[in-house]
Amino acid sequence: MQTETTYSEFDLEKGICTCCGQLSEEILIDDGRCVDCVEDEKFFDETMKDLK
Ligand SMILES: [Zn+2]
Repeated sequence: MQTETTYSEFDLEKGICTCCGQLSEEILIDDGRCVDCVEDEKFFDETMKDLK
């Protein structure tokens, strides 16, 4: 699990991720999802770019 990415531009809070439903202390307030889901989405987007 990588934790290199910093989210200084985001405010993190403890809560339930709206995507995976997991309790996390790293919920992006603006997004409602945990950083894991946001990272997954980023990775997915990058992968799709490569495939096209
Ligand atoms: Zn999540």
